[in-house]
Amino acid sequence: MTTFHSTRSTTDSLTSKQAIRKGIADDGGLFVSDSLGDEHVDIASLAGKSYQQIAQDVLAKLLPDFTAEELADCIREAYGDQWSDPAITPLKPIGDDYILELFNGPTSAFKDVALQILPRFMARTTPAGGDEDEQIMILTATSGDTGKAALAGFADAPGTAITVFYPEGKVSQVQQLQMTTQTGDNVNVCAVKGNFDDAQSAVKRIFGDKELAGELAGTSHTVLSSANSINVGRLVPQVVYYFAAYAQLLEKQVINVGDEVEFTVPTGNFGDILAGYYAKLLGLPVKHLVVASDKNNVLFDFLTSGTYNRQRPFYQTISPSMDILVSSNLERMLYYFSEKDTRLISMLMNDLSQWGAFEAPEPMLKSIRSLFGCGWADEDQVRDSIRDCWERNHYVIDPHTACGYFVMQQMPRDPLTPRVLLSTASPYKFPRVVNESLGLDATGTDFECMDVLAESTGTAAPAALRGLETADVRFGDVVEIDAMEEYVRSAAEK
Ligand SMILES: *Cc1c(COP(=O)(O)O)cnc(C)c1O
Repeated sequence: MTTFHSTRSTTDSLTSKQAIRKGIADDGGLFVSDSLGDEHVDIASLAGKSYQQIAQDVLAKLLPDFTAEELADCIREAYGDQWSDPAITPLKPIGDDYILELFNGPTSAFKDVALQILPRFMARTTPAGGDEDEQIMILTATSGDTGKAALAGFADAPGTAITVFYPEGKVSQVQQLQMTTQTGDNVNVCAVKGNFDDAQSAVKRIFGDKELAGELAGTSHTVLSSANSINVGRLVPQVVYYFAAYAQLLEKQVINVGDEVEFTVPTGNFGDILAGYYAKLLGLPVKHLVVASDKNNVLFDFLTSGTYNRQRPFYQTISPSMDILVSSNLERMLYYFSEKDTRLISMLMNDLSQWGAFEAPEPMLKSIRSLFGCGWADEDQVRDSIRDCWERNHYVIDPHTACGYFVMQQMPRDPLTPRVLLSTASPYKFPRVVNESLGLDATGTDFECMDVLAESTGTAAPAALRGLETADVRFGDVVEIDAMEEYVRSAAEK
């Protein structure tokens, strides 16, 4: 039986359903399973399968305590016609390389892949203590995209409520409207005075607050859980599209079964790229995983120097979803590369919280580097990349994808290894920056920018984004970091 425990201790022994419901371990660690990779997904049978069929194969390996029928129901509900492309994550050629579009879901960002299915997983878990009235309150700090994708996934999902905090003034007009216009009786959206890391740290503190937990359980039958990418149920759906990319390369006869592929991944919290590592452990022939960062290049420094140091300036960039100093999911990667050494991981994480830095042992760093490449792009390079990709390929990319595009061009090319760039957001989520980069008019509102972009490039804005201009704003609260806990308390009592 596959069980999950913390990256920092082996005392827990939870099923995947329990791990999904709980979100994060009591000691602050992330849930991992030691049997990951014992069984492989059958690569030879991938070609010709639908996204949904691949999801069934992959998720069965990762979440073995869900029945085949439960998984099939979750998959059907999550990957249906709320996606604008029947392939869910279509693979498109750009020059000699490929782009895997992860943004065709309801909120136009890759987080939909995971957040459309997470609420469906949660609906199939049951309260540990047998409290039938128990409701799960999803609590999330967002740098922009997670918030909306989580709201869209959890809105009116039975047995759940959701509270989203975002840094005031640090998300785009479109991103803010996406959140503040969210419908649903169980949703709460609140701006916070601070940056994303401040908000995320506060959310982590709220999760760790035993007194608050007892109070919420007593007064409103509420347990807090996370939809951030630290939740196992958030991470594993992302493994699927690496296999779906491979299946599409097989179908296009770009590769034969067993050939290796390189993936370049715009990275923030390290969830998207970690899923690629999980895919490799499940038998996908992955040659390299390239970490692409923006100017907040803490991961680049870690992979090149071995020291992770979060004590550095925080830059607010034009790729806000990658503006992160603490990449939470890195902890899972370190766990697997340390030969599952929970003592080492708790030491490193303790160093990080006490001193703001930790140092990876040399042998571990060496094996990490043999799989993971890295690079980063500054804001000028991001803008140039948006223009370059349009001029060369007539394909418009968003600023996050552009970080990956820039980094991919920097990497040595092996002509025998196809390269896939994961595209994490629709350019229409960031129309102003895209227009500026392409030399188009960017003086109007985000919506005017969308129209200019559509007209000039012959592409179309996703209807849900264009329609935000006239949607009703439901949420206008702004609170100090210190007041977030009180906001959660009152949201739980609603
Ligand atoms: C969340 C996000 C990322 C970063 O993904 P991680 O899983 O946090 O590494 C990159 N681009 C966009 C558009 C995102 O929303």
